Amino acid sequence: MEIYKGTSAFSGIAIGKILYYHRGEYQIRQSMVDNVKKELDRLDNARTAVKNQIQHMYKNGAPLPKEQELTLKRQLKLLSGGSFQRAVESMITTEKVSAAYAVQTTRDELANVFRKLEDEAVKEQIENIREISELLIGAMGGSHARINLGDEPVILAAEQLSPNELLEMNKARLLAVVMHQGSVISHVSIMAKSMEVPTLVEVEIQKEWDGHMAIVDGYTGTLYIDPEPELLKEYEIRHAADKEEREELLRLRNHKDITADGKEIKLLANIGNLDDLNTVLYYGAAGIGLLRSEFQYLGRENYPRENELFRAYKKVAEDMDERPAVIRTVDLGADRQAEYMAIPDEVNPMMGNRGIRLCLDRKKMFKAQLRAIYRASAYGNINLMYPMITSEDELDEIEKLIREVKKGLDEKNIPYKNIRTGIMIETPAAVMISEELGKRVDFLSLGTNDLTQYTLAMDRQNLLLKDKYNDHHPALVKMIRMVTEAGHKSGCEVYICGELAADSNLTEAFIQMGVDGLSVVPACVLPVRKAICSSYADEANRPAEAVKEK
Ligand code: PEP
Ligand code: MG
Repeated sequence: MEIYKGTSAFSGIAIGKILYYHRGEYQIRQSMVDNVKKELDRLDNARTAVKNQIQHMYKNGAPLPKEQELTLKRQLKLLSGGSFQRAVESMITTEKVSAAYAVQTTRDELANVFRKLEDEAVKEQIENIREISELLIGAMGGSHARINLGDEPVILAAEQLSPNELLEMNKARLLAVVMHQGSVISHVSIMAKSMEVPTLVEVEIQKEWDGHMAIVDGYTGTLYIDPEPELLKEYEIRHAADKEEREELLRLRNHKDITADGKEIKLLANIGNLDDLNTVLYYGAAGIGLLRSEFQYLGRENYPRENELFRAYKKVAEDMDERPAVIRTVDLGADRQAEYMAIPDEVNPMMGNRGIRLCLDRKKMFKAQLRAIYRASAYGNINLMYPMITSEDELDEIEKLIREVKKGLDEKNIPYKNIRTGIMIETPAAVMISEELGKRVDFLSLGTNDLTQYTLAMDRQNLLLKDKYNDHHPALVKMIRMVTEAGHKSGCEVYICGELAADSNLTEAFIQMGVDGLSVVPACVLPVRKAICSSYADEANRPAEAVKEK
């Protein structure tokens, strides 16, 4: 048995076999193209980029062993022409498929044809083709990995996963996720949490684990490979107890979110795709406090059309019925982007063109989303929320666009409601002007994930800072209090929708600060409800015997 320590991003216990996933193996979906020339150009650009990459490797790095240098030279030759390149180009031209798909298919076909040959030179050539194909697909932004988890549920072990990759997985086959990279509040961890799978990060992954039996303990952040029979037995019992505890919590599904001294709190759910709508209802959340709308923009070849967006939002509105559903306008950029968006490289993407900034730069994209949201508002109780706001000027611009959208809908007699609007408070600038911002909207929602990173000036994904990254920092607590007071002063409701909202050790403190509602991943609705029910909104109401126990 081997034991590895990581950090838990989501609790729970999983027992099963490991599936090792290697990022390099891109699986591109077949996609047809209208413009063949554009695909050939795309291939050409990727070839140039990869050539530069390889040349850089052997010209600028330390001198390489002869053998390796030869391999790089062969790879360069493969990129400069020859039958592999001709086969790819011919596939693009005759079958009108995307360049990335043509590279992948040609690579696989060649590997298949020569699979059984024992000739060392052929084997090496196939390996070279595989390597340059991966680089080419990578250079073309080939992030559309579809991971086949197989028939049996597995524990997925990966050096690194992107939110896209996780989004594409069959949740029913996923027992747990174990990664090396990715912090506890990286977007991929948040997504794993919303899928309710035990998740560990910062584990040194080994490909040899593939197929081995393992236990993931999401409470202690421990991974056991080939566990001893006694340990396995113990964990099977704990797994069953865990299930029992969850079932106990399930009794709270229809319970109201009222503190022990009678204050009602709005407990909402955060979701990142439509599959989670049922879970929101299942756990009895009062609605959706944060719909991360990025899921419709990632893992695809081009921007979603207005109708596609509309259909999804209409479903959200209808499924939630009277319950509020807060749709956050799309927060793309930084770690959430796809190749078709063509976002130029940035030195510091987390401080870059993301969220509302990108939307205001790309007004056509933004207006399509706003129109879809307004059209869907006729079918339920949709609310609108803007990410990464730092100034009132941004609000001026948004309001102008909304006026245009409404005018367009009026002209076509398309029905819509007057939507409640809100702002995410996730930058220190927004905290400082929260009273002014609050006057212009109906609610504020604290995005503590980003607010922590921007307040501490620490990248939320940087593993080197993990011991210093403190989302309970007194500055954060002070800011939450400030925003709550400022929001109330300007007549707004105040929510928390960052991961901190799910920390049930802080529930009572948030309530005592006056926060009106909390929005958490569906899996945390019941634990937070339990904490709400045992909290006192006013310390003076705590009975004497409860004070002693505390
Ligand atoms: C946040 O920053 O707290 C938040 C909820 O937004 P996201 O995690 O999607 O950036
Ligand atoms: Mg955020």
